[in-house]
Amino acid sequence: MTAKSMMPYVQGNSAIRAMFEEGARLAEQYGKENVYDFSLGNPSVPAPAQVNQAICDIIKEEDTLMVHGYNQSNSGYEDVRQTVAEHLNRLHGTSFTAQNIIMTVGAASGLNVAIKTLVDPGEEILAFAPYFVEYGNYAANHGASLKAVPADTKTFQPNLEIMAEMITEKTHAVIINSPNNPTGVVYSEETIKKLASVLSEKSKEIGHELYIISDEPYRELAYDGVKVPYVTKYYRNTVVGYSWSKSLSLPGERIGYLVIPSELDDFDNAVQAANIANRVLGYVNAPTLIQRVAARCIDCTTDIDAYDKNRKALYNGLTELGYECIFPEGAFYLFVKSPLEDETEFCNMAKKHNILVVPGKSFACPGYVRMAYCVSYDTIVNSMPAFKALMEEIKG
Ligand code: PLP
Repeated sequence: MTAKSMMPYVQGNSAIRAMFEEGARLAEQYGKENVYDFSLGNPSVPAPAQVNQAICDIIKEEDTLMVHGYNQSNSGYEDVRQTVAEHLNRLHGTSFTAQNIIMTVGAASGLNVAIKTLVDPGEEILAFAPYFVEYGNYAANHGASLKAVPADTKTFQPNLEIMAEMITEKTHAVIINSPNNPTGVVYSEETIKKLASVLSEKSKEIGHELYIISDEPYRELAYDGVKVPYVTKYYRNTVVGYSWSKSLSLPGERIGYLVIPSELDDFDNAVQAANIANRVLGYVNAPTLIQRVAARCIDCTTDIDAYDKNRKALYNGLTELGYECIFPEGAFYLFVKSPLEDETEFCNMAKKHNILVVPGKSFACPGYVRMAYCVSYDTIVNSMPAFKALMEEIKG
């Protein structure tokens, strides 16, 4: 018999499947171009040409037995890790080496490795609502539990006063995510400094270190020159999880890395534990060919201007129609206040206008909906009459 512990996931997944099926059904009935699907965070901009060129060059130029082989270290190729470290040092003035970098199977595996490395079963992790829904599942994978710090819906910056009140001896880590999925908010330097100071104080009070796990798959998707502070510079007990899923449009290739700074408490054990976690969780090592591609494309990013154009078009279009939301500074999501109290009802009503959006309760923040604007520009422009009709229906 299938494990009982998996049954809640199976039931939960049926809602996601229902959304996919609804999208496919609407596309068949009305034509793909008449369906406005803002539900998925799948990049809409192709990977830069350098990525495909690098794949071809590596196959021609490098030893394919080595390129396709197991890595000697479960942390990944030493030269790739050194390239990543030097890249970070150039950008952020840090002083990482290959020893601080563990290549991972995207951010998802990086977060699992980080949690297994830093948090024991029965311990607690805090995350600021709204947050990426998988955090709760990742914590549960390791017998830990995730507690949601309620959202500050005025700014969607982390609610640090409430976080401080929620920290107990059971708390061992706080997950942050900036630029944020689903709000698009970038945590300011002031916020990160305050967070660091509260966590330092609380660590002393509870008698053990509190780690920050900084989930950063959207780091490069920041607009108008907004600064995304590099968290290890403000708080030494920080592990950063990065991914090229969004910044190089490579979500299916499953490639990212963890940064474990040398200043971290118990660094030697932590870095070895993460290396072993990569193995025992079954990832073994990050995909080898794409590790080498990432190193060759270390200075490339996706076409951020395309997302920026979408961001402005969707935000301006919706706010002109009376929808309320904060202007996102990063990532590719808009977190819109549901015009109806029950956002599930709003999502169902939107579907009748061929608009697909995700309810905020999926991000521990009911009353809002997430719209992913990683779609074609035409989808945004063409969706506006449907959003207008939807608002008119709501207002009666
Ligand atoms: N963290 C956040 C906030 C995400 O939005 C996602 C994916 O959408 C992930 C982690 C997982 O990313 P990856 O594809 O690198 O595993």
